[in-house]
Amino acid sequence: MHIGLFGGTFNPVHIGHLRAALEVKEGFGLDEIVLIPAALPPHKEYGDVADAADRLHMLNLALEGDSGIRISDVELKRAGPSYTIDTVEHFKQVLSDQSHIYLIMGMDAFLEFDSWKSFDELLRRIPFIIISRPKSGFSSDDSGRKTIERFLNSKISADYAFIESRQCFQSTEMQPVYTFQVTGLDVSSSRVRRLINEGLSIRHLVPPEVVEYINAKGLYL
Ligand code: ATP
Repeated sequence: MHIGLFGGTFNPVHIGHLRAALEVKEGFGLDEIVLIPAALPPHKEYGDVADAADRLHMLNLALEGDSGIRISDVELKRAGPSYTIDTVEHFKQVLSDQSHIYLIMGMDAFLEFDSWKSFDELLRRIPFIIISRPKSGFSSDDSGRKTIERFLNSKISADYAFIESRQCFQSTEMQPVYTFQVTGLDVSSSRVRRLINEGLSIRHLVPPEVVEYINAKGLYL
């Protein structure tokens, strides 16, 4: 089994998350993508975070009937803040030794990941897939690649280098870092929240079932 772990706050889930998950699954031939909502965002300043139960429910609504993308509440059940290193450890323990797991994140999240707990240990344990995101510095191949290379070389290991044939950065001591271009959808949860707050429509930015739920519960007003 090849499994992609895709964490986030999902406050709320939007089409940028969903489309990226699907494209990575198909692009890498993964068997499954696991979306993992965070209990608390320890590395992100948030004002307006919906309850974990609401964020989880919206993910379930968004993915109803979707095969190959599932949701894990492992971080929501854990006491205290969510740390990706603990989540990776969890999946390594519950999955068989034959499973291959990857950590998926947008370019914006990647460029902040040196503030995460045990960030270098993460890259010793699991390959990364970095996806493009408009306005994040990785929407065209080359500029994104240079930014990623500089980041890896200065923060993780000086011997990371891009291998064209494998479309990834490799290092002798660390796991590979793949880059992947997804359809550029300039959508963010904060923009969705802002639109709601301004009394504007969020239709077509989040799935219709999620729009209904947000309206019914009066979230993000
Ligand atoms: P916020 O606007 O509240 O900061 P967000 O839209 O960035 O939220 P998160 O739940 O924080 O959403 O993101 C989870 C993961 O999904 C991150 O790795 C992020 O880079 C990625 N991601 C979010 N939106 C997109 C998008 N439109 N395209 C590609 N990746 C995305």
